[in-house]
Formats: sequence, structure tokens, C-alpha cells
Amino acid sequence: MISIAIDGPAGAGKSTLAKALASQLGYIYIDTGAMYRTVALWYIRHGIDTKDKDAMLPHLDNIAIDVKNIDGVQHMFMDGEDVNGFIRTPEVSMGASNVAVVPEIRLKLVEIQRQLASRNNVIMDGRDIGTYVLPNAELKIFLSATPEARAKRRFLENETKGIFTPYEEVLTDMIARDKQDSERSFAPLKAADDAVMLDNTTMSVEDTIVFIKGLLEKI
Ligand code: C5P
Repeated sequence: MISIAIDGPAGAGKSTLAKALASQLGYIYIDTGAMYRTVALWYIRHGIDTKDKDAMLPHLDNIAIDVKNIDGVQHMFMDGEDVNGFIRTPEVSMGASNVAVVPEIRLKLVEIQRQLASRNNVIMDGRDIGTYVLPNAELKIFLSATPEARAKRRFLENETKGIFTPYEEVLTDMIARDKQDSERSFAPLKAADDAVMLDNTTMSVEDTIVFIKGLLEKI
């Protein structure tokens, strides 16, 4: 099985790139952020503070998370319910970053991620894929762009989903999330030593795809 890891901060364009590459290569795209978002949604719906590890952990084994690929699109199921429509709000974004600090929660999700990669050719995007989840991935990309470019992309993407958070708030939230993701002690947001670093601030999606396909020809 072949694995491609794409890591980087929020809004760097990881999912757009990974989706396009997966469909062109016939690989399965795995969005690991959606898994952290689903766990956060569970706690939020149950009125449990996502910053309170002691309150969260006793429930962890009761959270049934399932990942299904339906017509090429990843769907997250929580206790049997398809929750794709509920996991992209600003509240869930910050909640995901909060739950992602807790090693026990990470390990539950990393197990699912590694299982998927053991059975399929995958393009997996996240924060710790190249460093922790799939350290032997055939290709590792660390994708970044300036915070302003990333916030602008997320702002425009949100609009298409009917989420109208002001640009300044998107930027502030994104910076806070990146800081927490980079500073946590277990599996932080970090480039693997053998990752290809790519700043795509001034690159189009098409140019980025061409660049990565060039790298793939060499593996
Ligand atoms: O990628 P996305 O923005 O959907 O991720 C939401 C949050 O989930 C991130 O801010 C990060 O805290 C967490 N995450 C993580 N490790 C991953 C993927 C996401 O910690 N592999």
C-alpha cells in the first residue's frame, strides 16, 4: 500500500489538494481533521467542556466513530448519525483543537487512521501524519501559506457553506488554533524531517498539483 502524508496549518489548502490528487491517482482521501471535529461535536452536544480532560475521558469509550467513503466522499458517523453537516462550524473547529491536545483521544483516532492506511492507497491530511501516524509514508508534504492567505481562503470557503464569520474573526481563530496545535506536547503540528516543504501562498491549486505529481513520479 502507498501512503502520501499532507500536513500543515489550518487553511493551507491540504484538503483541496489531497482530494484532487486522490481522484486523479485513484487513492482514498482521508481527512483526519474531520475525526477530531466529530469527537469535539460529541462533547459539545453532551454539554461537556472540550478543555476539561477529566470530564471528557470517562466518555471516550462510548463515542462510536465511523468513517465511510460514500461515492468518493468521506462521511463521518457519530453514534450511527452522519454528522458531515455539523462539523465545520467555528465552535467545532476550536473544540477539535482542544480535544486534539489529549493523548488518549489522539490514540483512539490514530488507530482508525493507521487501519485505513493498511488496507488502502491513501492520501491522508492532518497535522501529525508524517511525524506520527504514518512515519513511513512514501511521500510527505508540509503545506503552508501566510496566515492572511489561509484566513482569506477559509473565509471564502465558509461563505459557500453558509457560514458567515467575519474575516478578522477567522484570522484570529486560525492563529489561536495553529498556536495550540503547534505547542501541544503529544504529536504537535510539525514538519517531518523528510517532508517536502511547500509554501503555496502565491501558487494556484493546479500549479500545486502539478508540482506534487512531479514529486510522485520520483518515488
Ligand atoms: O484539519 P482541520 O482544520 O479540520 O482539523 C481540525 C483540528 O483537528 C486541528 O486544528 C487540530 O487541532 C486537529 N487535528 C490534529 N491532528 C490531525 C488533524 C487534525 O490535531 N491529524
